[in-house]
Amino acid sequence: MKIQKSFMNELPTLYLVATPIGNLDEFTPRAIEILNEVDVIAAEDTRTSLKLLQHFKITTHVISHHNFNERQSSKGIVNLLKQGKHVAIISDAGYPLISDPGLNVVSLAIQEGFNVVPISGSNAALNALVASGLPCQPYLFWGFLSSSMNEAIKELKQVQMYPCTLLFYEAPHRLVRTLKLIQEVLGDRYLCVARELTKKHEEFIRGTVSELLSHLQEVKGELVLVVEGHRKEDEKDILLKDVHIKVEEYIALGMSPSIAIKTVAKDFGLSKNEVYQRYFNRS
Ligand code: SAM
Repeated sequence: MKIQKSFMNELPTLYLVATPIGNLDEFTPRAIEILNEVDVIAAEDTRTSLKLLQHFKITTHVISHHNFNERQSSKGIVNLLKQGKHVAIISDAGYPLISDPGLNVVSLAIQEGFNVVPISGSNAALNALVASGLPCQPYLFWGFLSSSMNEAIKELKQVQMYPCTLLFYEAPHRLVRTLKLIQEVLGDRYLCVARELTKKHEEFIRGTVSELLSHLQEVKGELVLVVEGHRKEDEKDILLKDVHIKVEEYIALGMSPSIAIKTVAKDFGLSKNEVYQRYFNRS
């Protein structure tokens, strides 16, 4: 067990600084102050971050820390902490680690006993969630679905029965593919596509998957998908599909139809009338 009292020690600190996801006015004074104070900024894409840093006149030394060098650069960052330096991690937009690099260095820094401190700011998923019109708790943030169709189907099957709002990041050129997969695996659920959040062309497209598929053509910009979670009523629909089969099975075992219906009602926690309707409407 390890306890970190962030502001009650002199240990070197790894700051996880959120940067704006579009609107530069969302960069907090605290984030700017920390980026000015640390010894080194480790950025996902140094060219993208330099533009942001120049805009805010931050001249701190920047090193590269991206997916392709994450392991190696994490060791380098921990070495800087060991030398007594304070380091800030930033990604291109939003929070580091959220569908972005950083987990490796955070784990190492915790292992080595350094402070790991988050600096609040903007995040695409949470912005989309609160404006989606869907319940905000519980929610599940998935990030990007796999680019492989089969893997994406498997991933969606994993969350099919979760009774919580689902959040996905998606690239615009894959939006229609993903909507079709959602329709196929999760059904015609309500969802919200939140596009270009905090930017001039911010847009929310809310409706069922089929409505969105018939409306959407070419989509541009960055987007988040907020999808309704599994509902108990849907569960009942699935159950009702099996009702017919179960009644038949009991009849085949020698029960009279009325006893079979009564038994199935008990098994499924349904009323006799629901089972009766379902059974006789389907046969
Ligand atoms: N770290 C970021 C965060 O905290 O939100 C996410 C980085 S992830 C590599 C980039 C994805 O986030 C985009 O493909 C898009 O799905 C989503 N995203 C980022 N900025 C966005 C914006 N302004 N509007 C909508 N979605 C955005």
